[in-house]
Amino acid sequence: ARKFFVGGNFKMNGTKESINSIVKGLNEAQLDSNVEVVIAPPALYLQLARDELTKAGVEVAAQNVYDKPNGAYTGEISVSQLKDLGVPWAILGHSERRTLLQETDEVVASKTKFAVDGGVAVIWCCGESLGEREAGRTVEVVERQLAALAAKLAAADWSKIVVAYEPIWAIGTGKVATVQQAQEVHEAIRKWLRANVGDGVADDTRILYGGSVNGKNCKDLAKEKDIDGFLVGGASLKPEFVDIINSNL
Ligand code: 13P
Repeated sequence: ARKFFVGGNFKMNGTKESINSIVKGLNEAQLDSNVEVVIAPPALYLQLARDELTKAGVEVAAQNVYDKPNGAYTGEISVSQLKDLGVPWAILGHSERRTLLQETDEVVASKTKFAVDGGVAVIWCCGESLGEREAGRTVEVVERQLAALAAKLAAADWSKIVVAYEPIWAIGTGKVATVQQAQEVHEAIRKWLRANVGDGVADDTRILYGGSVNGKNCKDLAKEKDIDGFLVGGASLKPEFVDIINSNL
């Protein structure tokens, strides 16, 4: 069985004070012990979050990592630096980086491979724009993104990957995908993994939904058979993040 997984992507939000208070909230909360939780504060606050987190089952993630070991790459952070700080996860391929920072499918795949090889697990994001959905191209886009990733990964690498399906039109818009829209794409992703990587990877890979998840809509989404958790943006900064973690209770 796939362990339910809830990620909190803080994006470029927070201060020492607010991140401390979110971490304190998690330390003190009653969390479903059958859920793996990962929070991703901005890189500047990874150390703080790591140091203050005392809750079992809650880990930290970077929001990005570079695909070179070290050197003259101004502004980037390395896999070994994440390891040095005790950061076991990174989010890669988020649509905000794909669109605003022009990261291609190949760049995202290369960074993902580099992270996994260095021992950092990856929440790998994919998803279509509104125009692509309206043109009926959703599955084609997600399959293209998956194919670029699969071309770089060995079968064993997939045990270090969690897939997050985040339709761009649902991110930060309050316009959550319907349960049916999400389940349909999650099923297509699993089917693609089965056909192109293998049964074990298809059965074991967690596929998260992201895009306007909140404390109210999470319960119905969590019931779907191919939805194995969430990647939460805005609501991960609020007390309702705990309700999302506890979707199945
Ligand atoms: P929101 O939950 O704010 O829509 O953001 C989703 C997201 O992009 C998580 O990575």
